[in-house]
Amino acid sequence: MAQDVLFPLSKSLWAATAAPAPQTQALTASTKADVLVVGAGYAGLSTALHLAEQGVSVVVLEAREIGFGGSGRNGGQVIPGLKYDPDELMAMYGPERGPRLLQFVGGTADAVFDLIDKHGMDVPRRRAGWIQGAHTADAVKLTEGRARQWERLGVKVQVLDRASAQALIGTDRYQGGWVDTRAGGIQPLSYVRGLARAALAAGARVHTDSPVAALSREGAQWVARTASGAQVAADRVVMCTNAYVGKLLPGLQESIIDACTYQVATRPLPPAIRDTILAQGHVVSDTRNLLLYFRLDHEGRLLMGGRGPFREPRGPADWAHLERVLVKMFPQAAGQPIEHRWCGRVAITRDYLPHLHEPAPGLLADIGCQGRGVGLQTAMGRAFAQYLVGGDARSLPVPITPIQGLPLYALRRLYVGAMINYYRMVDGGL
Ligand SMILES: Cc1cc2nc3c(=O)[nH]c(=O)nc-3n(C[C@H](O)[C@H](O)[C@H](O)COP(=O)(O)OP(=O)(O)OC[C@H]3O[C@@H](n4cnc5c(N)ncnc54)[C@H](O)[C@@H]3O)c2cc1C
Repeated sequence: MAQDVLFPLSKSLWAATAAPAPQTQALTASTKADVLVVGAGYAGLSTALHLAEQGVSVVVLEAREIGFGGSGRNGGQVIPGLKYDPDELMAMYGPERGPRLLQFVGGTADAVFDLIDKHGMDVPRRRAGWIQGAHTADAVKLTEGRARQWERLGVKVQVLDRASAQALIGTDRYQGGWVDTRAGGIQPLSYVRGLARAALAAGARVHTDSPVAALSREGAQWVARTASGAQVAADRVVMCTNAYVGKLLPGLQESIIDACTYQVATRPLPPAIRDTILAQGHVVSDTRNLLLYFRLDHEGRLLMGGRGPFREPRGPADWAHLERVLVKMFPQAAGQPIEHRWCGRVAITRDYLPHLHEPAPGLLADIGCQGRGVGLQTAMGRAFAQYLVGGDARSLPVPITPIQGLPLYALRRLYVGAMINYYRMVDGGL
């Protein structure tokens, strides 16, 4: 775990409005499984669900509660794709892996909405599309190019000029943008709890309040020791700890920047204001380097997310800039009380790509969703399950690579701080 005290999930908007979590307990007696999954977020629970459905015995150990990491506290924007455009991914991965990767990342929103439907999960959701708002003239060109690339692959997109962006979003702050119709919004904590229910129903064993304190190889098996002393012995282990990674696996924590991102939510807006903001139910993020992301929730609260201090928060002042941005972006919402302030960590890798590692036989680790992991990590879990039941490493969406530490990791707060200041300047006002 990171050294700061982690911000409690219970203070998030989602904890106040989610469907209840299934009953789970800490691991108190040692046990065995074919596969041990560490971390009960989207990746871990999707892995467990898809394994259990194929008759594999699987135990999930979660340090805190279901969805305690990014999965319970994110913006709930289900957006397919990676940070890179299709043409870039083709150039990076070549004619053999490239098309398969595009198919995988293009289908990550489907993976979420299909699972919700298949398991009848109690998850407020709306699949009206994602708008990427372009904040400069150059960004308008960039988003149009992005839209055209996906369109060539058969995706239904819409290119927005200034007037149509203003009409759909309800602010004059964007010069254009594009709509990806595959995307949508969900209640993220209800979804991760729904995944846990589905995994339990399929036969997975899920233990909360069970931090794995040590992981060792004993003969042909992996043995995970939890803080209580109870152990799990398993043939294979999948580490799905993402930005909440600790010291369990040497070097893994040092391979990412685990930056905090902050969110605020108003009280449910009065209908007259609500009708002027995102009236067609889109979710939005923009083209700034330090991007802003916002949406309405299912009860009409306006959420605004974006940068904050790198560290965990110390008080309401750490959210003050987001409250100012919310009003600048939507002056019609001025004076609406802020009901919730919360934050969480995202894992950023050196190349802004998800990383898969297998540092020893039978030990798989997944890290680095770059703040876009609702769909990605759900679909990754499905891919891990296929791999673990006998699939080929080539069937995984990205290659398995060695763990590589970031240069000057110990100084990351300094250089990330400098980068943030630089980006604030080039991103311009708001
Ligand atoms: C504030 C915020 C906003 C975001 N907004 C969006 C968004 O709108 N759209 C989007 O697509 N993505 C978004 N993301 C990213 C997304 O939430 C994550 O990519 C995703 O939830 C990661 O899922 P995961 O299963 O990989 O990891 P996590 O959900 O982070 O789960 C990791 C789990 O591992 C557990 N763990 C760690 N160490 C141990 C241990 N030793 N033993 C046992 N358990 C352990 C942790 O307690 C944690 O529950 C956002 C993230 C944040 C923080």
